[in-house]
Parts: sequence; structure tokens; C-alpha cells
Amino acid sequence: MHDTAVLAEAARRAVLLASGVCREIQLAQGAVRQVTKDDKSPVTVADYASQAIVARELRERFGDVALVAEEDTDFLRQDEHKAHLQAVLEAVRTVWEDCTEDELLETIDIGNGRADDSGFWTLDPIDGTKGFLRGQQYAVSLAFIESGVPVAGAMGCPNLPRDFSDPLDEPDPRGSLYYAVLGEGVYETTCDDSNERPVKLTRLPSDKDTLSVCASVERAHSSTDDMDRVLDMVSQKNIEIAPPARLDSQAKYAVVARGQADAYMRLPTKKSYVEKIWDHAAGALVAIEAGCIVSDIRGHGLDFSHGVGLSENKGIICAAPHCHAMLVGAIKSLKIGV
Ligand code: AMP
Ligand code: MG
Repeated sequence: MHDTAVLAEAARRAVLLASGVCREIQLAQGAVRQVTKDDKSPVTVADYASQAIVARELRERFGDVALVAEEDTDFLRQDEHKAHLQAVLEAVRTVWEDCTEDELLETIDIGNGRADDSGFWTLDPIDGTKGFLRGQQYAVSLAFIESGVPVAGAMGCPNLPRDFSDPLDEPDPRGSLYYAVLGEGVYETTCDDSNERPVKLTRLPSDKDTLSVCASVERAHSSTDDMDRVLDMVSQKNIEIAPPARLDSQAKYAVVARGQADAYMRLPTKKSYVEKIWDHAAGALVAIEAGCIVSDIRGHGLDFSHGVGLSENKGIICAAPHCHAMLVGAIKSLKIGV
């Protein structure tokens, strides 16, 4: 058994530091330099810098760590991508002054660790890279998994306003940061200041006559048609449906956790797609600790014990307790995802 309070504190520090660097990169570069990896997904200087900073923090604190992270160095090690490597190095040196090229590459590759039963970290250094590129929402997400369950973690949302009256699709100057321990609660603070006093987060009570949901901006990541069918079915129960909020990244879990939306729906667009653990581990923990229910679309709990994929699950439903069963029931009766 690990000391989960120590793990959460380490995660908070690492995520705060990496979030600060991501924010600086976004401000400094305006149109942030984007490249496309072999699998056609976008990656930026900030993805690599964030991974290096988090991996270094964890290693300094715990020595040899098992870290399963989204990025590796295949791209950066290619001669034609030297300029990208230099830009990552420059960004990392804002917090790790004497970092060399070799140290940078070796530190990013700490993220090639194994998801083993005795416990491991999982990191998405920038979840929602497309949101980051648009100057909208993204998250730095880090969690520790033990026996298939996230037990401690932190999620930095550098552009997410804490005030509900501020728009979700514009960057907030301070952002929001969450850290949590399984069974002990979740704390909210700003994403730009380690001295800000964290507050314990509890989901605000819901109005049961209305339902507000959030979903991906990217239509390829969650079926809009199926979500409309679900909401249509719910509206037949005399529940008023608010227009869905669309935002990138695991920030959606935070939006539900704090009561700004009632549910986050991620309905599969492709039968074969397997959700990645780093896209959900920290966010799901934050939502659960605030009092939400997180499951797949069949109502099964998320199972993080099968390597990098949530291969035993299909899609995601994160919802306030009063509407979770209703949404899973609607999905079942509409035969979505079968
Ligand atoms: P979001 O910002 O919530 O749309 O999620 C971003 C994440 O979606 C990325 O980190 C990808 O790992 C993941 N992703 C990529 N393709 C798909 C897909 N077809 N279905 C669901 N998620 C995907
Ligand atoms: Mg991601």
C-alpha cells in the first residue's frame, strides 16, 4: 500500500509546475507550433515539455518510478525535428535550468514505464491538445493507479475559470487545479499559484427538473447524434435540457464535479475505439471524490487494470448521482454502443 496523501501532494506539485510551463508556451507562441505524429494526432512543444517536467518531479521525489505517459521521444530523436527538440529544451529550461538534450530525452522516456499491479503513475501531459491549439481548454492529468483503481492524482486546467459566470470557451488568466485522494476527497485551487489556499470540493446540489451536459468539442471523439437521442428521451420525462457545453479534455470531469453541469457523456463513435487510461484516470478520481458517479455507458465501473487501454469499458458517463442511472438506462434502451 502506498501513502496516497504523499502521492497526491507530489502529483499536485508536478502538475502545477507543468501547467505553468504550458501556459507560458501558449502565451509566448501565440499560434503554438504544432506537428503531427505518425498516428496523425497533433503534438506541440508543450506536450513534451509537460511530460519532461512531471517525470523529473516524480523521479526526484520517488527515485525509480513506473510512469505510463502518452508521449515518447521517437519523433524528437529524428534529425528533421531538431528545431522542435530545441524548442522543447528551451521551454523545459525555464524550470530546469541546466537540462541537457540527452537528459531531456531520457526524462521524457521515463514515461515508457509498465502498467504493473503494484502501482504506477499515468500521465496525459496535455489532454485536449486540440483545445490547447485553439487557446481553449486543456488539462495536465496525472494519477496513481493501484489494483486497477486511481487512488491519488491531480489535474491542472490552466484555462478553466473557477467562476461559473465566466465563459468556458475562453482562457481564464488563473485556471483551476484539482487534486484528490480516493476516499478522502478532492481539493480545488487556482492553477497559477502554489500559495493559494485549496478548498474542499463538494458538488453543488442539482436542480432535478433540468439537465445540463458537457461533451467533447471534437465530434470524432463522442457521437453527437447518439447524445441528441439520449437527451431527447430524457426530455420526455418533463426534464428541461440545457444546451450542451462543449469543451476539450478532462476539464469536463471538473465541470461536473463542481456542479456546473450534471453529466459528461462520451458516447463511442467507433466500435473499435478503446479509451486511454491517461484520458480518464485523474478526471474520474476528481469527479468521484466530489460525489459523482463515473462508469462506462453500460454502467460498469472503469477498470484501469488492463494496460494503457480501458479495454473492458465502452465510452464514459460521469454524472451527478440523481441522473446517472437515468442516462445509462436511456443509453441501454436506445441500444447505443451494442
Ligand atoms: P476530448 O478533449 O474529450 O475530446 O478528448 C481528447 C482525447 O480524445 C485525446 O486525448 C485522445 O486520446 C482521445 N481520442 C482520440 N480519438 C478518439 C476517438 N475516436 N474516440 C474517443 N476519444 C478519442
Ligand atoms: Mg488525452
